[in-house]
Amino acid sequence: SNKNTQDEGSLGDVEGNIKPMIDYGKIKGSQDVEIPQLLIDQVIGHEDAIETIKKAAKQRRNVLLIGEPGVGKSMLAKGMAEMLPPEVLQDILVYPNPEDTNNPIIRLVPSGEGKKILKSSKSTVSNYDEWKTIIILFLMVGAVLVGFYFKRFWETAIIILLLFLVAALTKLPRNASVGPKLLVNNADKRFAPFIDATGAHAGALLGDVRHDPYQSGGLGTPAHERVEPGMIHKSNKGVLYIDEIGTMNMKTQQELLSAMQEKHYSITGQSETSSGAMVRSQPVPCDFVLVASGNIQVLEGMHIAMRSRIRGYGYEVFMKDYMEDTKENREKLVQFVAQEVKNDGRIPHFSSSALDEIIMEAKRRSGKKDALTLRLRELGGLIRAAGDFAKEQGADLVTAEHVVESKKFSRTLEQQIADRSIIQRKEYSVYNPKGGKIGIVNGLAVIGDRSGLISPIAAEAAPAQSTHEGKIIATGKLGEIARESVQNVSALIKKHTGTDISHYDIHVQFLQTYDGVEGDSASVSIAAAVISAIEEIPIDQTVALTGSLSVRGDVMPIGGATAKIEAAAEAGIKKVIIPRSNLKDVMIEKKYEEQIEIIPVDSLSEVLDNILVGGSRKNNLVKKMKAIGTAVAEKVPNT
Ligand code: ADP
Repeated sequence: SNKNTQDEGSLGDVEGNIKPMIDYGKIKGSQDVEIPQLLIDQVIGHEDAIETIKKAAKQRRNVLLIGEPGVGKSMLAKGMAEMLPPEVLQDILVYPNPEDTNNPIIRLVPSGEGKKILKSSKSTVSNYDEWKTIIILFLMVGAVLVGFYFKRFWETAIIILLLFLVAALTKLPRNASVGPKLLVNNADKRFAPFIDATGAHAGALLGDVRHDPYQSGGLGTPAHERVEPGMIHKSNKGVLYIDEIGTMNMKTQQELLSAMQEKHYSITGQSETSSGAMVRSQPVPCDFVLVASGNIQVLEGMHIAMRSRIRGYGYEVFMKDYMEDTKENREKLVQFVAQEVKNDGRIPHFSSSALDEIIMEAKRRSGKKDALTLRLRELGGLIRAAGDFAKEQGADLVTAEHVVESKKFSRTLEQQIADRSIIQRKEYSVYNPKGGKIGIVNGLAVIGDRSGLISPIAAEAAPAQSTHEGKIIATGKLGEIARESVQNVSALIKKHTGTDISHYDIHVQFLQTYDGVEGDSASVSIAAAVISAIEEIPIDQTVALTGSLSVRGDVMPIGGATAKIEAAAEAGIKKVIIPRSNLKDVMIEKKYEEQIEIIPVDSLSEVLDNILVGGSRKNNLVKKMKAIGTAVAEKVPNT
């Protein structure tokens, strides 16, 4: 099995002569790792944000957390609640108002008192209630038996109806005599409340008064009983957390803002047509700290006054989605694994080799050199998948093999789409990594976060039909990008090949595109396809290509280098051309290393040199390009 591990690209196998990712010392696995008590200390990789949160907790300030999903925003908010003093918590009670039944009275008592008050006022009533129910049930059963015996069905039905009526009527004095209702109960709370109001509608957020169909007849539930607290009240003296705050409607945001300013908010029926709307409680305290979060787009949907309130009376934090790859941070990842195992409670701990594998994966997922990803919700998913797999195999410790194996079946939707499309495209031979073809290039794209995909691009050139100027015709979903790319490279093509593409009608097509494919990294590929089409020099189909082209002919860095190269290897491509500046981001799995050659390039001429199929035409073209390139370089010494 050791051999297998190495094949799959494990770095830290104990028996292999490979250096582990960290010095584990006495630590045999995640079971030996200490987990901090406080939630805030369990948040890893966000030292600056944690400092801010601590400061905000001390001063009870609002916080806006901006960052990618799954980096720990809600965890920070929860951690903040733990740091607020729990001793100031209160219970909130609502009483009937004898003077105005539609204006229930609000009382505050220290936490824990509310439950006691309720108990003392209810005990006698409920006793009476139980007896009444038993007697009425007894009478009903009696009536049915007697009725059946004498075959007097009509009379029986009427008696039962009468009994129901008695039950309903005696309900009235019970309700009137009932004491207060406990709106917010903070008894036995060790920490200040943390309320997640993400996606809550107005009623849930601001409180509501239930509708009562019998309200006008005076038979119904009294008004104060129908008062329901909102999340803003339940989070009194604690933290109210709202993710994606920009999706909350403006009116609700406006109300939320006024609640924040006043620190209390009367509860009323949220639906205008409901009888609840007639009821309006006395002001109910809602002195919460707001932690709002979302990605950067969320700011667009956020009420301007809300944003300015947070800015004026709080902090804004931009959260990282990766951390530096240092010894300390690798150790924190180990702590993270231990936390996830403990929180899950159903999976075994991780051996040191498995921990190494997780660190390696964090490195790969960061997509950068010397960085570790902080998209830890997703990494947690891998940890659970590996744990489940180990458990299935009957192992009592997760090993590196389990992690590597589970990566295969815990692929994201995007990765599964990519996998499927590779198979499909092979079947329909949309691309075929063999030989040379004019005007067709194997571009590379990324879907989702980190799934590569071969994205073939075809170009065709014909002398312009119009006598004045040729047209650029780009079809497919990425047509706009293609058109722009061709326009951008037209000067380069002229410079490099001497051909004026405005004498041609040029068609460019992305042969098969998917939703979510980003196209700006395709400009080098488009240029290569167009040049191949115009010069009629075939492109080597065993090569794939990615890079962004500057108007000067430099090949600029792109995103997702690792995923793209792995996709190319997976599809049977032999060589992949990438921008030199991306070389440091490449962290392909070991199994791909022997399958594919990576060629870093700086300029379009280097691209063409590597991708066009050899022959006299190619040699002439490359020679010409190089000559022009040097001439340009000499003229402009600072290029
Ligand atoms: P967000 O609110 O940013 O979408 P969450 O706080 O809900 O992310 O994170 C989801 C889960 O991922 C957490 O419960 C935790 O298990 C894990 N997690 C995410 N970020 C971190 C982090 N920085 N440190 C430790 N665990 C994390």
